[in-house]
Amino acid sequence: MNIDPNDNLVEVRNLTKWFPVQRGLLAQVFGGTRRFVHAVDDVSFEIRRGEVFGLAGESGSGKTTTGRAVVGLTPVTSGRVIFDGIDLTTLGGTGMRSLRRAMQVIFQDPMASLNPRMSLGRSIGYGLEIHNPEMDADARRAAVVEMLERVGLAPANYFYNKFPHQTSGGQRQRAAIARALVTQPELVLADEPIAMADVSVRALLLDLMNELKRDFNLTYLFITHDLATAKYICDRVGIMYLGMMAEVAELRELYTHPLHPYSQALLAAVPVPDPHQRRTQPMPEGEIPNPISPPTGCRFHPRCPIAGEVCAQEVPAFRELRPAHRVACHYAERFLPSGD
Ligand code: SF4
Repeated sequence: MNIDPNDNLVEVRNLTKWFPVQRGLLAQVFGGTRRFVHAVDDVSFEIRRGEVFGLAGESGSGKTTTGRAVVGLTPVTSGRVIFDGIDLTTLGGTGMRSLRRAMQVIFQDPMASLNPRMSLGRSIGYGLEIHNPEMDADARRAAVVEMLERVGLAPANYFYNKFPHQTSGGQRQRAAIARALVTQPELVLADEPIAMADVSVRALLLDLMNELKRDFNLTYLFITHDLATAKYICDRVGIMYLGMMAEVAELRELYTHPLHPYSQALLAAVPVPDPHQRRTQPMPEGEIPNPISPPTGCRFHPRCPIAGEVCAQEVPAFRELRPAHRVACHYAERFLPSGD
């Protein structure tokens, strides 16, 4: 499928999401400053129609909160999420409900979308009951059977009646994919969809997701902590660090010319199967800082091997330094290929 770089299905503008910190009893009685977890701060990116846009970063980077905000599962603190021309942040419950069918989620744990007390067939059909109430029971069953076959759960009539605990982890994730796709969404948020699957079936699940994307004209927002997985399936990738976007570029561009020291560190830490090739590097020293009081300036500065004085003082602008390649680093020019 040809992807038009000007055809955005989703536009995220200055997205910010803070969660209030639960206050102890003394603070509730005596007052004091309300504190917040800065889960996502001023994040902007686009998802083009038909692409797989990956959000990557270590745990605590804000990628899941961003994904949930994009599909309207988490209300935003500020900023805008525009889906197919509609600003989700201005919609009430009724408006959002009418868009739910168009935006579905595949969770890391398939049990998050499969009811343990329902057969796979009923769980998958439940979305149709909600979003296509005019569909009769026979048509609904036929649609579910077709989808079971499409995700490789055949014979479909056999799997239709199975309960989640009677199936393997890989089969459950296939059923969760079927449940997400049966309502024919446009955008699918896939949040670490293979992280809990057995290593032996991970590539098969990614291949399946790729085939389904092509056949159903889907757009994916694919969240992963693993850049090897992102390399397998994504068209473009955004690297997040401590709630902020560090870098966004097309996959090959990002992997060959990473301009942000954090992206460089993540890429250097990807395990390489061939022992004769370049060895992997450990991530820079230090834990991800506390998101309740994130570092001033560039949030990566306490861990950055090339941080300068300005880094602790000024938040770096998110700049386009190469075509369709944006980065937030004061010193990113150092990493431009010679000739740029
Ligand atoms: Fe490192 Fe400074 Fe760039 Fe941040 S802005 S990544 S601290 S060099």
